Amino acid sequence: MPRRRIDGGATQPSRRNANVVIAFVECHSGYIMIEPPLSIESLQARAASELNQWTGSAARWSAAAPGRVNVIGEHTDYNGGWVLPMAIDRYTVLVAAPGLQADRIRVRSLSLGEQSAVSLSRLSDLSDDKWMRYLQGVLAEYAHRAVVCPPLDIVVASSVPVGGGLSSSAALELAMAHLIEAVTETTWSPSERIRAAVSAERDGAGVPCGIMDQTIVEQGEQGCVLLLDCAQGLISSTIPCDDPQIAWLVIHSGVSHDLADGAYAQRRAECEMICEALQVGSLRDVTPEMITTLTPDLPALSPIQSPIQSPIQSRLKVPFDEVLLRRARHVVTENQRVLAATEALKTANWSTLGELLFESHHSLRDDYQVSCEELDVLVELAQAQDDVFGARMTGGGFGGCIVALVDREALSSVATSISQGYVQRVGLSPQCYRVKPASGADVCAVFA
Ligand code: ADP
Ligand code: MG
Repeated sequence: MPRRRIDGGATQPSRRNANVVIAFVECHSGYIMIEPPLSIESLQARAASELNQWTGSAARWSAAAPGRVNVIGEHTDYNGGWVLPMAIDRYTVLVAAPGLQADRIRVRSLSLGEQSAVSLSRLSDLSDDKWMRYLQGVLAEYAHRAVVCPPLDIVVASSVPVGGGLSSSAALELAMAHLIEAVTETTWSPSERIRAAVSAERDGAGVPCGIMDQTIVEQGEQGCVLLLDCAQGLISSTIPCDDPQIAWLVIHSGVSHDLADGAYAQRRAECEMICEALQVGSLRDVTPEMITTLTPDLPALSPIQSPIQSPIQSRLKVPFDEVLLRRARHVVTENQRVLAATEALKTANWSTLGELLFESHHSLRDDYQVSCEELDVLVELAQAQDDVFGARMTGGGFGGCIVALVDREALSSVATSISQGYVQRVGLSPQCYRVKPASGADVCAVFA
């Protein structure tokens, strides 16, 4: 059966102008919809060839970092909670050569089809190109500790969808960290690298992220899902996940998000407000019982029309409303779901894990309000399939991907059915990836 032609290196999602007609025809002619992964080596070869055409230089250094799928535990990391992610076999690869321009780090991204540059002597002047700030941030973190790169020309090739909720940003940062270390012959510990990448995203790109993405992208383990305790910044448990009965299917809605646009920061600010009101250090300290007490009249998981004054407001230190209580309820119940999901994963209880995934999605949709119509349709379509144990949006939200836990035997038929339904209901062509748990970031080559 013929496969759809794909270009895994140029996976930047478009906002509602995908190849709708072509995909519709393909769906109805029964084509397999799952896109195969590209190896690190093929991404590297593509980047090296581009570098050579652009600068005439041969590649000298290369580093790679994976994307990640968060199985469950969304918007809990910056609330000191629990998350259950895995690094995946989709990668961002950087290839570099000594720079042709003094004092410059020049970068070309094949994913975006764009080129940018920063001055090594003025790393704190933020680039006008938002995407360059992620790299600039990492360079600045190393420079603060006297690890200063020489001028470089760099090409980025990636099979991680950009802005798709699979953490292309952390993959870019950690690949850059490993590249800097290869070039400068320096070795930092994983936790130092993670700290540098988190700071780069917060201070360089302006996204007040938690620690999950950088931790899993750096420390992912082949064939395993990791339980992270974000309050401690620790891996609490490493759970092998190689049961041949199941597969992880990621479906990209075709709608991109941009977490730097403020909605993510707004959710963080709302969580801080409720912590202040409840006089707790983080939402990790709020028990399910506290939430039940605080929200006796809060309807269970239904769409919010508008912020409503809460009847319990008078018992609280500062005014806040039902919306904030819903945010807290999501975080508190999501932490419970992560711990329950960990047990389900350890015991290969796929139906229980699947139920938890659906519940997580509903909580993110109704209480945390970070889903969108396209993601909701994908999860609904997944829920209608007998061979899907569970599904949810994954990543920050507002677009990007869902992750579905699927019966391995039925993977192709599930992907095809959901894709057909999505094209009919939304008019966009989704991209499907089967992902497998992979190892974390690394230097992948230093050429002679
Ligand atoms: P996610 O991490 O879920 O993919 P984010 O919004 O956190 O989404 O990060 C996406 C941003 O990271 C992009 O808008 C871009 O600025 C930067 N980025 C990620 N991957 C690349 C890449 N391969 N090339 C250039 N920029 C990238
Ligand atoms: Mg990101």
